[in-house]
Amino acid sequence: MAGSDRVGPAAVRKVGTVGSWDLEADVVVVGYGCAGACAAIAAREAGADVLLIERASGGGGTSANSGGLIYMGGGTPVQQAAGFEDTPEEMYKFLMAALGPDPDEAKIRIFCDESVAHFHWLEAHGVPFKRTFYDEPGMEAPTDDCLVFSGGEDGHPFNLIAKPAPRAHKPQHPGAGGGFLMQRLVAATERSGTRFEFDTRCEHLVVDDRDHNRVVGAVIRQNRTERLVRARRGVVLTAGGFASNHEMVLRHTPLLARCAAFNATEGDDGSGIRMAMGAGADIIRMHAVEVAYPLVPHRLLRGILVNRYGQRFINEDTYFGRLAQEGLLRQDGEMLLIVDNAIYEPTIFGMQAAFVEETVADLERAIGLPTESLQDTVAYYNRFAARGEDPLFHKRPSFLRPLSEPPYAALDCRVGSQDVNVSAVFSGLTLGGLHTLPTGEVLDPDANIIPGLYAAGRTTSGIAGGGYCTGISLGDGTFFGRQAGQRAATASI
Ligand SMILES: Cc1cc2nc3c(=O)[nH]c(=O)nc-3n(C[C@H](O)[C@H](O)[C@H](O)COP(=O)(O)OP(=O)(O)OC[C@H]3O[C@@H](n4cnc5c(N)ncnc54)[C@H](O)[C@@H]3O)c2cc1C
Repeated sequence: MAGSDRVGPAAVRKVGTVGSWDLEADVVVVGYGCAGACAAIAAREAGADVLLIERASGGGGTSANSGGLIYMGGGTPVQQAAGFEDTPEEMYKFLMAALGPDPDEAKIRIFCDESVAHFHWLEAHGVPFKRTFYDEPGMEAPTDDCLVFSGGEDGHPFNLIAKPAPRAHKPQHPGAGGGFLMQRLVAATERSGTRFEFDTRCEHLVVDDRDHNRVVGAVIRQNRTERLVRARRGVVLTAGGFASNHEMVLRHTPLLARCAAFNATEGDDGSGIRMAMGAGADIIRMHAVEVAYPLVPHRLLRGILVNRYGQRFINEDTYFGRLAQEGLLRQDGEMLLIVDNAIYEPTIFGMQAAFVEETVADLERAIGLPTESLQDTVAYYNRFAARGEDPLFHKRPSFLRPLSEPPYAALDCRVGSQDVNVSAVFSGLTLGGLHTLPTGEVLDPDANIIPGLYAAGRTTSGIAGGGYCTGISLGDGTFFGRQAGQRAATASI
């Protein structure tokens, strides 16, 4: 298979062309991030002999670079200890609203119903969670504290749809927790008795065309040597997404290509998706992306975000991923944060005001917004903010105050005018991928199960239909990785 210069299906090998197998296992897992580790552990615990193939020299993947927030709820011990009431039903209602349009209802249902059990599974496999809440929305705690709001649960409109509860859990580790999470999952995978082949790329699937094109193995490459691996029960693809495959991004979700950075590693080259496509798999929601624009400190959100017409378009106190999706996908990457002297400070990423003027009229002119557009927006906003109201977007009263202390400033959040070194960049990851059942079984375009083929994590379209909350990727990767490994180990063949 050529590198990342291709977007279509990777060719499959027919089993009839295979002379002999070099390696064998019941279950072959491709990719050793959070989904692959959990798939391997679950398959081992279900009694299968497991071989894990990883192109890097060890486990980790993009999961190890992440913040480590894992979306779990429904009444976890951390939620209880921190005094938050939550139920699987409230979690379900929130996720169905926040992850749309058209989120995967069956996956969200089981994800919520079994979330507390998943929390206990992770702890039993060595991932500890401190019983604490960190009261700053959006990003992971810089401390070793655990729980944060991470999806706008407590802001409009979601606070009207489901009882708000924080659900993003970070393993007990100071700052970003992804590396620590993967250390613990790697240790658990090693303890499980999984066998490994590192520095090994999986390039093609092997199918049995005399048995409904069942997936029966994989072609791997070690240095320049091609080897054939038999999978007696099945192959689980947990090889990440496609954010690092520029051609695939341009084909499926071109606005993401305009982001200044990607929440991905080079393993996210779409190879897992393309191998499965070769075996007849369907791909869905390939346009869907998570994008982030963390505007912290949060006092900045007492300002207003405006588009190229000088109009507000969202409640600024919502989840920063929602701000970014709205800004990138629906405002064409054009947004500016307007603040006054009372609330201005640079973001934690060092982003400073791009325009500073003594009056709103001068600021409007300096930015090049239509005449009187920003002046009208600020006047309207101020009138109601003074009464603690936001009739347009329902920003919470605690974030409302008139912008009235000169000078006035604009932080330039437009996607094309970002300096990656100083700004809070739009960054993103892909959410589209293989169409799977909650069991991890991979479907073809007619929704038939492809025998012997399973997948989880960002190789699949998970629980996010288009919307996103921080913690969903590690959440559905670990959860559905377990389902896929378990099903691959036990499905009748
Ligand atoms: C800075 C940052 C912060 C983030 N923070 C969070 C967060 O707090 N919470 C959250 O939920 N998400 C977060 N994310 C997103 C999240 O980390 C990923 O979406 C998630 O880890 C994907 O897990 P995965 O198991 O599907 O893939 P990965 O962890 O990427 O694992 C895939 C593995 O497959 C290997 N591989 C790929 N192709 C092949 C092949 N052909 N043959 C063999 N091996 C292959 C790769 O080398 C890799 O090791 C963040 C991402 C970044 C970059």
